[in-house]
Amino acid sequence: MKAIRVEASGAPEVLRYADVPQPTPGPGQALVKIDAAGVNYVDVYQRTGLYPVQLPLILGQEAGGTVTAVGPGVSEVKVGHRVAYAHVLGAYAEYAAVPAERLVVLPNGVSTKQGAAAMLQGMTAHYLATTTYPLKPGDTCLVHAAAGGVGLLLCQIAKLRGARVLGTVSTEEKAQLAREAGADEVILYAREDFEAAVKRLTGDARFQVIYDSVGKTTFAKGLSCLAPRGMMVLYGQSSGPVGPFDPQVLSRNGSLFLTRPTLAHYIATRDELVARAEEVLDWVRQGKLALRIEHEFPLAEAAEAHRQLEARKTTGKVLLIP
Ligand code: NDP
Repeated sequence: MKAIRVEASGAPEVLRYADVPQPTPGPGQALVKIDAAGVNYVDVYQRTGLYPVQLPLILGQEAGGTVTAVGPGVSEVKVGHRVAYAHVLGAYAEYAAVPAERLVVLPNGVSTKQGAAAMLQGMTAHYLATTTYPLKPGDTCLVHAAAGGVGLLLCQIAKLRGARVLGTVSTEEKAQLAREAGADEVILYAREDFEAAVKRLTGDARFQVIYDSVGKTTFAKGLSCLAPRGMMVLYGQSSGPVGPFDPQVLSRNGSLFLTRPTLAHYIATRDELVARAEEVLDWVRQGKLALRIEHEFPLAEAAEAHRQLEARKTTGKVLLIP
């Protein structure tokens, strides 16, 4: 079968479209014929080596497809089930052998492509807004990179929970998308200092929570935009990692909370994975959560997909089609 193999970390060129053996499902595994694989920023970090991984590997950790075989002891899925998953390596491929306990059966009305687009970024937006800081009516939150993959979903879920949402984006076109996703106000942080904009838009009320996936260029300023006892949720670093940090800053800025969460710990058990995925997929099915699948690349063009993601040229979801 064809897959995207990485033998050495580096620039997008290290993503090689190669012939590799088709996997056979072992005990507890299901073989999934992949219809679409999701591209996520974590794939970039694993490609560059920012997040260490053992090489060689088949990149990608999100997909939707159909179960074509199961190994011994599998009870969660059957051959023919349409499924999706996140957080299992090897998704940039035609087939993947996936632990069955990590698979979620897709409901009728949600396609395998939508499954691939919803799992990782959708469950991330879900845990951020419902569990890390459970938003409620009366809260005001800031969503950085609001037109990005997680960003567009987070804006919508924050609105479903009744919060006021401010978003940051780099261009006017992205601002329009963030507004369509429900953002009440959008700040063009590449043009205007967002700290000044926050003062203008919220007065002294500021934010109960900031969802920051941008990191290096936004983190420090964000700390002075939180209300007393507000929460900084640093969940990514698309502009680069945040440097060393003095916890005293949290006290000075109003007894703030800081967390650096990751999806793995919010879908650690099968029960939590299934409950979270089912709610996200049900919102998709009902049309409450709109997926923006704007960029589809053939699997062979994975390197170009990475280039565009890193150059801030994408909005919403990027998929690879085997
Ligand atoms: P996005 O679609 O959000 O793409 C990244 C966006 O970040 C860009 O479109 C851009 O938006 C913004 N950005 C700001 N500065 C830069 C920069 N210097 N270079 C590149 N982009 C920049 O990606 P994802 O939704 O896939 O992921 C967003 C972040 O969330 C990543 O850091 C990812 O690792 C993290 N993440 C964390 C998870 C967790 O559980 N902790 C799970 C999923 C994702 P703009 O042009 O508007 O500034």
